[in-house]
Amino acid sequence: MGFISGGTFTSDPSEYLAVGHVVKVEPESYVVMPKKDLHPGSYKVIAGEEVAKENLASDGCEVSPGSGADTYVVSEHKAAADKKDVKAATCTETGYTGDEVCSVCGAVTVKGEAVPAAGHKTDSKKWGYDMAAHWALCDVCNVKAGEAEDHKFAVGKCTVCGAVDPTYVTASVEDEGNVGTAEEAATKEVAAAAASSLVEAVITGSSKPVDDGVVSQETYNKVQQAVNLGQTIEVVVDATPLPADAVEAADKDKVMAVVTEDGEVAQYLDLSVVLMSKGEPLGTIDKLDEPVTFTVAIPKDLVKDGRTFYVVRVHDGKAERLATTVKDGLATFETDLFSTYALAYEDAAPQPAAGQQPATDQPADAKKPAAMALAQTGDPVPAAALAVFAVALAAAVVCGVAALRRRSAR
Ligand SMILES: [Zn+2]
Ligand SMILES: [Zn+2]
Ligand SMILES: [Zn+2]
Repeated sequence: MGFISGGTFTSDPSEYLAVGHVVKVEPESYVVMPKKDLHPGSYKVIAGEEVAKENLASDGCEVSPGSGADTYVVSEHKAAADKKDVKAATCTETGYTGDEVCSVCGAVTVKGEAVPAAGHKTDSKKWGYDMAAHWALCDVCNVKAGEAEDHKFAVGKCTVCGAVDPTYVTASVEDEGNVGTAEEAATKEVAAAAASSLVEAVITGSSKPVDDGVVSQETYNKVQQAVNLGQTIEVVVDATPLPADAVEAADKDKVMAVVTEDGEVAQYLDLSVVLMSKGEPLGTIDKLDEPVTFTVAIPKDLVKDGRTFYVVRVHDGKAERLATTVKDGLATFETDLFSTYALAYEDAAPQPAAGQQPATDQPADAKKPAAMALAQTGDPVPAAALAVFAVALAAAVVCGVAALRRRSAR
């Protein structure tokens, strides 16, 4: 048995090798070493011994027999084209560069490295939002990447995220025929405020508008649906003359019950505050927080000396006369309740001052159910009612400003 267990030689020392050792055959020399952790190269062994996988260092790939007797070749790893376990870092999760591996034996030749999570980026100012708040979205992964903050609503939209303000209501007025609102700007303001607080109640789930008789449960539900769909609500104040045959018989009976024996209905009216969404009616607001003023042009062939005009309202199954001012062929009255109305008249009783219908000149702000019967002075028939109506509308602008001043003075 041999005894050489180390050293570099110029001639092959393999016949003197100690057990458990090999000779590494290099171009100009022979290196004796222990038979463990063998790197790529050619080796000679003691006859009958062999080199196997377990003798290889980590850079040794495979063992195959060499060209001579008792010789073996340890090959190098071959780098695979693709790395293993590569993982891109996300905003929140660590990534990995991947391991370099050998395409022959699969051994990992170079370990990869962790790649830290990048964190969310919010440079492009994308926003997520719900009804109450908005928050920044990550430019990369689109998830919530900032604190929720209240919307900054201005004129119906959030100035930060562009979300629609569900409580922003635009109001319009539709006058038809000889019926109109005397203070259009004030009417719009009151109607928009009512619709806006209705939407607010709907958002908070309050049933107050239904309990207070502002809207029906059905209308409330429809507004709720629209708001949940992100639709904006509009409100239209509609003043329309109604043909008598379009009025329910029960309503007509109620009107006639408060019109005196000698009285007549000149005109039925439909005054309504309609809630709309996407051009579709959702229902009506039946009651406003404060009264708005309407005018009806009195048909000129009905104007007559000693004749008194007044407006009758039917609401909630009850008919009542409203304080009505008659001037220049126009009947003006205030109301905060919406339904069927009638313009009625009666002629002066032959016995004056019986105390039943006193004619007074007091202004119409007194909320008496009785008519403010104003005597028609001067011309028995004023100039054409419609022309006068236009004049009255000009006057109404002044009234509107006054009404606004009253409001802001509170
Ligand atoms: Zn390999
Ligand atoms: Zn992200
Ligand atoms: Zn916002």
